[in-house]
Parts: sequence; structure tokens; C-alpha cells
Amino acid sequence: MNLDLSPRDLAFRDEVRAFLSENLSPLLRQAGSLTTSVFTDKEWSIAWQRILHAKGWAAPAWPVEYGGAGWDDMQRYIFSAECARAGAPGLSPMGLKMVGPCIMRYGTPEQKAFFLPRILAGEDYWCQGYSEPGSGSDLASLQMRADSDGDDYVLNGSKIWTTHAHFANRMFCLVRTKFDGKPQQGITFLLLEMDTPGITVAPIITLAGEHEVNQVFFDNVRVPKSGRLGEENQGWTVAKYLLEFERGGSSAPGLKVSLARLRAMAASEAGDDGEPLLRDPHFRARLAAAEIAVEAVEMTEHRVLSALSAGDNPGPASSMLKVQGTETMQSIDELAIDIANHYAAVYQPESRAPGANAEPVGPAHSLVAMPRYLNNRAASIYGGSNQIQRDLMARLVLGL
Ligand SMILES: Cc1cc2nc3c(=O)[nH]c(=O)nc-3n(C[C@H](O)[C@H](O)[C@H](O)COP(=O)(O)OP(=O)(O)OC[C@H]3O[C@@H](n4cnc5c(N)ncnc54)[C@H](O)[C@@H]3O)c2cc1C
Repeated sequence: MNLDLSPRDLAFRDEVRAFLSENLSPLLRQAGSLTTSVFTDKEWSIAWQRILHAKGWAAPAWPVEYGGAGWDDMQRYIFSAECARAGAPGLSPMGLKMVGPCIMRYGTPEQKAFFLPRILAGEDYWCQGYSEPGSGSDLASLQMRADSDGDDYVLNGSKIWTTHAHFANRMFCLVRTKFDGKPQQGITFLLLEMDTPGITVAPIITLAGEHEVNQVFFDNVRVPKSGRLGEENQGWTVAKYLLEFERGGSSAPGLKVSLARLRAMAASEAGDDGEPLLRDPHFRARLAAAEIAVEAVEMTEHRVLSALSAGDNPGPASSMLKVQGTETMQSIDELAIDIANHYAAVYQPESRAPGANAEPVGPAHSLVAMPRYLNNRAASIYGGSNQIQRDLMARLVLGL
């Protein structure tokens, strides 16, 4: 595997860098680098998406016929690495990376014509209604019911952990349309509007004090059958196709940015002996372990890229990347907490709002250490918990 960028890829990287330096305003960069949770807030991610859309770069992975950038896997990797390096706000994946590709694959011509341009332009903001109280890892056991009534389904039940449901105007959601037989065979995939009567969004405030996830209640909610994606009772096939997109990705570029930030923090903070922490042998050993782990994630991502460009499937490597990427991120967060020390405990959300002028208590770099640490605990749970990924690897790699 040749890891050097080709002259064509280098020219592409320079083009992306030039675009980012011209178009990422200081406020957008600040919003990106102060993000402490799964997604950047809608206000900033949509502002950035519109700029990318105007350039034709909002959906690098989409086919050109639907408005994609027409890049190969390497170009897409370079683009996401450069965005991370420049501190660009992350775009919400729910429309662009998750339901968009499913609509391309399973949608009717009318659904494609209606939804895809709106996703691309950021006119619609989607949330994902998969998990329910009692149905997370064992998703096929979901119980939210959709009873057929003429041209509509009538929905009753609830979804939980629904990220950004309070911002979203649309939800893609799994419902039960058949109650006997194998659980997977009675699930239907629906696209619905969040302002439909009978929907209530209740906030769940996380340990970090942030409102990002919700429980969504459905009380006799009528959804037209034209909002169904794929056939009735065939939703499990669509759901699994979507999860392939949820679990893919490139985490090494973001991890490298976090490592650089950590090094800068350790260089400016003193340990117990009054010397910069970066000179402390114990701290250096922990930092080195994190750096090696990031290198390993990066190499594995390149290996997957190489397999993809040869037309192969990444197979169990995507589970390995999920586990290694999230656990490495958590170890970096732990180091950041150690550096920030008692300042990590100060709760000061007003100082870390983009454009805020509230002076932080303690060094500016300690502002985000604790919320990142707390929020990233969830990374080994969402998108398929790490235990589930380990089970998958045990089956696929070890044949257990
Ligand atoms: C911050 C955050 C955002 C989220 N956003 C969304 C969203 O937008 N939309 C959405 O639909 N869902 C979302 N989720 C839900 C997420 O997908 C679930 O939390 C996840 O699937 C785990 O399900 P659970 O919480 O019900 O835990 P459970 O499935 O009850 O698992 C509990 C524990 O048991 C372990 N476990 C379960 N089964 C097995 C097994 N077979 N073998 C070994 N260990 C097992 C799990 O690993 C976990 O440690 C989000 C979750 C979080 C934390």
C-alpha cells in the first residue's frame, strides 16, 4: 500500500485548503473547534453546509447525478481530513449520509425528486427514530406501532435518544406494522414531518448539561403511506442499508487534531514539579500510547480505503475502527481532563458559545475538556455499542 499522495491528490488537497481558508469564517471555525458533542449545533452546521452546497461540495459521497462532488474515496478522505484540520463545523449526517443514500436506493422517483435536493441544500433537517426504550442493541424488538387506516398509518409509541429531534423538521423512523412472525419481518421504514399533530419532543439533558438528545412521543400520529420508504414490512432491509453508512467514516483526522490540541495544552501547563507536563515522563508515556493508537487507526483507515478502491468490502474492519477510534478518543479526553485539572470542573457553557465574550474561568483550552469527556462516553454506545462490535468481530474474524 503506497501511503504517499499522488501529484493529483496533492493538487486536490491544495485546492481544498485554499477553499477552506477563504470560506471558513473565524466564527465558523470557532463553532467547529468548540463543538463538544456528537454534532455541531444546527445554526452553524447549516450555515457551513450552504457554503459547501454553493460550491457543489455538500455531499462528496453522492453520485454526481444527485448533486454529489464526483470524488473518489481518496479525495473524500483528503476533504474530511482538511475540514478537521481547519476546524470546520461537522455537517449533520442524518440527511446527507444516512437517509439520503437510502432514498437513492429505495425511494420512488417522486421521493427522490422531492427529498434529495432539499437534503443537499440544507432545507430539511432530519433526525433518526430507531431506538426505543427497551430496543437499542436489539433493534429488531422495537414496538412502536403503525396501524393501517386508509391512506395513512396511525403511529403510537415512543422513540428515545433522538439526536437533534428538537431542531429537525423531518424524521426517518422504524415502526412495527406486523406483530407476528420474525421481528425483523414486521418493520416498516417511514419518512415523516415533525410538526404532525400528536408528536411531542421531550428533552433529555446529558451529563454535560447539554440538550442534544430527546424522547419523542407519538399519540395517534397520522402519516400518509406515501411517506413509506420501500415496501411495507421490508423496513429492516432499508434500516440495515442505512447502518452501513452510519458506521463508516474517517476518525483519524479528527483524532490528530485532538492530539495536537493536547500537546499544546501539555506544553503550557505545569505538572506538580512546576515543569511543563509535556516533559513529565509519565505523561509522555500516556501521550505516546495515544499517538500510537491514532497512527494505528489512521493506517487501518488507509487500509480500508485501499480495499474500497480495489472494489472490496471493508468487512469487519469497520467494527474494528469503531472500537479503536472511540476508545482512543476517550483516552485523549482523559488526558485533557488531567491537564485541565480543577478547571475542568468549572461549568461555564456561556463562555464556549461561538462569538461569546464571557471571559473563561481558567485557561481557554480547559473550557471544552469536561463536556468533551462526558459527551464522548456516548461514542462507544451509539451507532452500535462497542460490545456489539466486539461480538461481530468475534463472529466474523475468529469464527466464534
Ligand atoms: C448520545 C447518543 C445519541 C444517540 N442518538 C440516537 C439517534 O439519533 N437515533 C436513534 O435511534 N438512537 C440514538 N441513540 C441510541 C443508540 O443507538 C443506543 O443507545 C444504542 O444502540 C444502545 O442501545 P441501548 O441504549 O438501548 O442499550 P442496550 O442495548 O440496552 O445495551 C446496554 C448494555 O448492554 C450491552 N449489550 C447489549 N446487548 C449485548 C449483546 N448482545 N452482547 C454484548 N453486550 C450487549 C451494550 O453494549 C450496553 O453496554 C443515541 C445514543 C446516545 C448515547
